[in-house]
Amino acid sequence: MDAEQLRECGHRMVDFIADYYKSIETFPVLSQVQPGYLKELLPDSAPNRPDTLDALFDDIREKIVPGVTHWQSPNYFAYYPSNSSTAGFLGEMLSAAFNIVGFSWITSPAATELEVIVLDWFAKMLKLPSQFLSSALGGGVIQGTASEAVLVVLLAARDRTLKKQGKKSLEKLVVYTSDQTHSALQKACQIAGIFPENFRVVKADCSNNYAVAPEAVSEAISVDLSSGLIPFFICATVGTTSSSAVDPLHKLGKIAQAHDMWFHIDAAYAGSACICPEYRHHLDGVEEADSFNMNAHKWFLTNFDCSLLWVKDRSHLIEALSTNPEFLKNKASQANSVVDFKDWQIPLGRRFRSLKLWMVLRLYGVENLQSYIRKHIQLAKHFEQLVLSDSRFEVVTPRNFSLVCFRLVPPTSEEDDGRKLNYGLMDTANSSGKIFISHTVLSGKFVLRFAVGAPLTEEQHVDAAWKLLQDEATKLLRSV
Ligand code: PLP
Repeated sequence: MDAEQLRECGHRMVDFIADYYKSIETFPVLSQVQPGYLKELLPDSAPNRPDTLDALFDDIREKIVPGVTHWQSPNYFAYYPSNSSTAGFLGEMLSAAFNIVGFSWITSPAATELEVIVLDWFAKMLKLPSQFLSSALGGGVIQGTASEAVLVVLLAARDRTLKKQGKKSLEKLVVYTSDQTHSALQKACQIAGIFPENFRVVKADCSNNYAVAPEAVSEAISVDLSSGLIPFFICATVGTTSSSAVDPLHKLGKIAQAHDMWFHIDAAYAGSACICPEYRHHLDGVEEADSFNMNAHKWFLTNFDCSLLWVKDRSHLIEALSTNPEFLKNKASQANSVVDFKDWQIPLGRRFRSLKLWMVLRLYGVENLQSYIRKHIQLAKHFEQLVLSDSRFEVVTPRNFSLVCFRLVPPTSEEDDGRKLNYGLMDTANSSGKIFISHTVLSGKFVLRFAVGAPLTEEQHVDAAWKLLQDEATKLLRSV
């Protein structure tokens, strides 16, 4: 590493990135390339001799950028947001600079200790019960994604139950969730060896914005108990992926407690909103949970990846995931005086991710972060009002947080209940390159999702998106 070369090239890269952000609105939000486009543009093998940075920048501009979907565009309204920010970006830079592999405390004490401190700060911002703090039996850890978070707690829960019920009980273990839960849980069950027939998906209550009804979960548990099965895990969601529904945490937690089950809360997207006092009630009942997860990389200005997981009793996680090979032994770990995060996650190696979260918290402060969330929710409310003001459209479920689920009401002649019509609207809007929205299906209806949450989005972008959708709707309805 030549420090002066890094300085020169680094400055050029920062200039490139700053220019990218300045001109981000000039690119189609959704990449318009065809599958396999890049193979046509790049050579078959790596260069034998070094290329210049100039040549590389040319290729980035001409060949890479067209294949990028611009998640940071202010006209990005698809899925859920994935925020970047100056602070998050600087944190990523510094993390890349140190480039540590912080599996054990000794491999970089600052990485482990900063992670513990920042996760405690965050737990306090969310007003999580004190058991989730590192000073108690619990604590927080940064995972890569919500998928990894739910997998590690599922493994902890599985082993906790098998310890009580005997190792041969694996085939009897049952997981309960709603049909609105993210597919990450199903994948976790597949990996954890939960028998597919024991993955109990309870239909959510469409009359309650697709939150799961605790009675339905209770009923499913009773049926399974009477068949000799062992209910051991309930997963609730705060801010489901399709409609941002909030499951009834308190009641589900009580059910879990009554049956000695693990209770996990996935607040991957909506957890961020709960730093605002007026939205914190969505976490009421978290005191019943064994584990709680939210993605700071979604709606919290922290560059991907940064998924925050807290557990009430870290020993279950550590017992399920720890190994102690000779080559990793060291004085601090042997004395049990430190946290070794390798025992709280799947891989051994881990990045210094707490830096970027620490920098986001320090450089913006809680008040500004709260305003940031409020602004997006306000913009989503504004969009919802726009939809309500046009009788050709309907809001399909009441808006929660910054997601609006809506659709073009199909003329009565439409046989597929508006699927083709709304797919067509989404497709033409996305193909225009001017906005990117996504879809879901609720109660068999094809529904459009408009999720506000990109850091650069302002009211003018929401208004322009709505105008585009209205204009395209007019054209489509004319041709029906
Ligand atoms: N849970 C919820 C509620 C989500 O919305 C998502 C993704 O959008 C996930 C889990 C999966 O997130 P990840 O990509 O971090 O695994």
